[in-house]
Amino acid sequence: MFPKKIFNALLDLFFPNLCVVCEKKLVEEENFLCLDCLTKLPKTNNWIVKNNKLEQTLAGRFSFEHAASFAYFVKNGSMQRIIHELKYKNNPRIGEYMGRLCGKELSHTDFLSDIDFIVPVPLHSKRLKMRGYNQSLELAKGISAQTKIHVFENAVQRIVNNKTQTKNSRIERWNNVENIFRVVDPNLFTNKHVLLIDDVITTGSTLESCAREILKNHRSRLSIFVLASVD
Ligand SMILES: [Zn+2]
Repeated sequence: MFPKKIFNALLDLFFPNLCVVCEKKLVEEENFLCLDCLTKLPKTNNWIVKNNKLEQTLAGRFSFEHAASFAYFVKNGSMQRIIHELKYKNNPRIGEYMGRLCGKELSHTDFLSDIDFIVPVPLHSKRLKMRGYNQSLELAKGISAQTKIHVFENAVQRIVNNKTQTKNSRIERWNNVENIFRVVDPNLFTNKHVLLIDDVITTGSTLESCAREILKNHRSRLSIFVLASVD
């Protein structure tokens, strides 16, 4: 193993650190985002708002205690760039970094007070192989590093590799995501309050499918946290 300093110097040489949002060169204490873009992130602050917009979107679809997103996903906005970097640019580290930002916000609130453990929405093994990492797990790791709440990364499996579904109708989307997850050990969830983590929520149908699978154990409870949501 290289000492960390040398490793970072090599990284900087081959991959100069640019802000993933504005592409300005980062100064030494900045990571992934320049200070300007970091302070301008369109945070929702909805983790301290009861019956917030995301909770209204998910209400009646499955039962949950709390639901919140870190920031708003706007077309061509900063969160779109960050999510793109996280999902398609082979950059898992930005996931953990963003997870830490989320964890920092949540640890000042009672959103996590009752959470027993964290579960990231899993990827199908084929997609995991293609991407090399699960972006939701990277977020979960960051939240865990900040909050010391344990992550169970293999508690749920994705057994069907469904296609991206932005162009389907709502009913087609639902048919497309039914029974795509499997809980590995249902007993793990008994009498537990689980924080389910995903990267971005648009229709919520994938998240809903995963949540429903976990909630088949009637003695478990769920809260939801996602990095970005459409306003
Ligand atoms: Zn920037």
